[in-house]
Amino acid sequence: MYHSELKNCIALLYPESAGYDTLLTSLADFIKREIRPGAAIIDRNEIYPRENLYKLAERGIPALPFPLELGGGGLPYPVFVAVMEMLAAGCANTALQLSIQAMVCEGIILFGNEAQKEQFLRQSGLLAGTSLAAFALTEPSCGSDAKAIKTEARRSGENYLLNGIKTLITSPGEANFIILFAVAEEGISTFIVPTSTPGFQVLKVLPKLGCKGHPLSTIRLENCQVPAANLLGTPGKGLSYGKHFLNCGRITIAALGVGIAQAALEKALAYSKRRKAFGSSISEFQLVQEKLADMVTEIQAARLLTFHAAQLKEQGLEYTAAAATAKLFSSEMAQRVCDKAIQIHGGYGYIDGSDVHRHWRDARMLSIGEGTSDMLRLLIAHLALKEVS
Ligand SMILES: Cc1cc2nc3c(=O)[nH]c(=O)nc-3n(C[C@H](O)[C@H](O)[C@H](O)COP(=O)(O)OP(=O)(O)OC[C@H]3O[C@@H](n4cnc5c(N)ncnc54)[C@H](O)[C@@H]3O)c2cc1C
Repeated sequence: MYHSELKNCIALLYPESAGYDTLLTSLADFIKREIRPGAAIIDRNEIYPRENLYKLAERGIPALPFPLELGGGGLPYPVFVAVMEMLAAGCANTALQLSIQAMVCEGIILFGNEAQKEQFLRQSGLLAGTSLAAFALTEPSCGSDAKAIKTEARRSGENYLLNGIKTLITSPGEANFIILFAVAEEGISTFIVPTSTPGFQVLKVLPKLGCKGHPLSTIRLENCQVPAANLLGTPGKGLSYGKHFLNCGRITIAALGVGIAQAALEKALAYSKRRKAFGSSISEFQLVQEKLADMVTEIQAARLLTFHAAQLKEQGLEYTAAAATAKLFSSEMAQRVCDKAIQIHGGYGYIDGSDVHRHWRDARMLSIGEGTSDMLRLLIAHLALKEVS
């Protein structure tokens, strides 16, 4: 899982830091022993990966990319991206929660006040991963068109009363806190909502194709009373904050694409050597080799785009276009690679025993959540056109 290409990327980025290599080597060993063996069972039995998340929290993994002064690990973002890639190769469901968690923590760091950082990141354990986060923007009548959300936030003294419906939300019933977008008097605003708040109700779980360890749910908010102190940043700026949350999220989603594709590639490589046809291993057939070569090349291209976005973020440079490009390419690449892995497995790729279609099913959501491929293409084109006067 900590294979040579990933190792090379880290070595090139941080030639002086052998410590990162040691960290990633020991993490790869941990993922191989403790996370990967249960991944197919999590998928098959639709189990939320809570146990894995506890194990990661015990090792301080969720906090790794955050500032030391907040209790984080102070690790450069590209190294965290390598961690996310390896984790996604081991268990996409576990990596998805860590990706959402990192996005939520990043948003609170960017827009939260000192009291909120202390209360939610430190004391409540969001940064350490001892409490879990979710993110609720989508509503029944709008996803891509986030401006059109209808959930209301009415000020009532020292509180806000939230009313509305959110849907297609990843694991709100498992989370302790949810970042929620609602329309206040000043416009769309962002709230940190404890999921134990009366009036916060998880209505139903929507059966789905992949990422089956995460219950995708609809939420009803009925006079859900949240202290005004839980308003993030300035009221009316929620849409702009949402874009920042998602920019950051897109880098780790891109890393998930790379990791899932890498897992599918490794299975396809091993199977192609094992499987015999016409008197030889199918790995000896050039048409199979063509698929393998394309898989290797596309994965590496997505990995480099993802590291590039992470590096820009790490340096404090603008990374909106880079994150969108990485997520667009990586999420679509993962589907192509996983599809080829199924093809190389022949009929066995289609049945449950080989497990390889799990990777395709998990990858399929990556080009929908946190900005569909269409919306990302529009954003990338818009930013490119802006460069030309
Ligand atoms: C597994 C999964 C997990 C999710 N988790 C979360 C979560 O935790 N929190 C959350 O808030 N949301 C979550 N979502 C919702 C996800 O963010 C939305 O599904 C996504 O933003 C698209 O919104 P929509 O489904 O309403 O589609 P729509 O916005 O209705 O779009 C439908 C189709 O039209 C296309 N389209 C829309 N507008 C344009 C345009 N202007 N030009 C070209 N094409 C366009 C879209 O690309 C899409 O193909 C999740 C979704 C999935 C599948």
